[in-house]
Amino acid sequence: NQQILLARRPEGMPTKETFAFRDIPKDHPEDGQAVIKTLYLSVDPYMRGRMSAGKSYVEPFALNEPISGGVVGEVVESRSEKLKVGDKVQGLLNWQLYNTVDAASVRKIENTDVPLSAYLSVLGMTGLTAYFGLLDIGQPKAGETVVVSGAAGAVGSIVGQIAKIKGARVVGIAGSDEKIRHLQELGFDKGINYRTADNLQKAVEEACPNGVDVYFDNVGGSISDAVLNCLNDFARVPLCGAISSYNIPEHEDLGPRIQPNLLKTRSMIKAFIIGDYSKDFDKGIKDLAEWLSQGKLKYKETMIEGFENVPKAFLGLFEGKNLGKQLVKISDP
Ligand code: NDP
Repeated sequence: NQQILLARRPEGMPTKETFAFRDIPKDHPEDGQAVIKTLYLSVDPYMRGRMSAGKSYVEPFALNEPISGGVVGEVVESRSEKLKVGDKVQGLLNWQLYNTVDAASVRKIENTDVPLSAYLSVLGMTGLTAYFGLLDIGQPKAGETVVVSGAAGAVGSIVGQIAKIKGARVVGIAGSDEKIRHLQELGFDKGINYRTADNLQKAVEEACPNGVDVYFDNVGGSISDAVLNCLNDFARVPLCGAISSYNIPEHEDLGPRIQPNLLKTRSMIKAFIIGDYSKDFDKGIKDLAEWLSQGKLKYKETMIEGFENVPKAFLGLFEGKNLGKQLVKISDP
């Protein structure tokens, strides 16, 4: 067995030295436990926060201990009635080739008609984040304008499509022309490449002639400053993430503040954490699966193969290497 540890806490951008690989002995399940072989493993921007020691909504990863995150795996040994060999499960597991867990701590995947990796993307944490953040906080109405940043990523690409399903006009902001073309394929009304726009605020104004009613914020920083300058009165801003600041060392200035814009427009900005919605996950998964089967929802995954490439996949998130959900394929079922 093998695992990936947090070898040192990054100052600013993480590097491959942030991680270390360690061989560990195979362990044997006790009563009520099962051994899960990792098939797919999720890398996520929020993990960057857990690599620092500062206080947040989840505990920091411990130094020299395995990193953990979303995994889809297969039961290869079981001493529980809840799981049998061959069952597919999802859970928050260590970055390991094999995890020995209490059977109750993972969720069995009942519908295997959907590709298993989807349980780490559109039917997983990022799909649910899009669903609840947009519908509960953003509350888009038909005819309104929804802007989403990080639009070609795992959360953003689903946000835009759900907003379309709700009848909104949707503008996505992302970091390459390829990503903008992808947004068009997903049915977004307009895409803005923030790396090539001369004046981002102007580009948002042109793309949103009726102003912005919902801004789903995945990135923060200067991209959000530009959009927040375009809010209509009583706009809603689901504050989902702020990836642009994740690698800025704590003592450095984060740039202009957003509060004056919110005050001016009496807009509501409400942060949320996907875990707050856990009691409604089943409904979210049901709706997402239905839209998928009706062809109303599409999703893209960028797959890197091999356990040795997990750090690379993670670091690539901060360079925009992924289209859709970044995943790592560890092994075949
Ligand atoms: P993505 O799939 O969107 O991957 C990250 C993307 O962020 C990259 O592809 C890149 O796209 C963009 N990016 C990277 N660095 C910057 C930067 N400096 N400025 C602007 N954009 C940047 O990740 P997720 O969909 O998983 O997550 C999106 C956001 O949602 C993150 O901020 C994450 O922390 C947050 N999140 C919050 C949750 C919650 O419960 N509140 C749950 C899940 C995610 P590009 O090429 O366009 O720059």
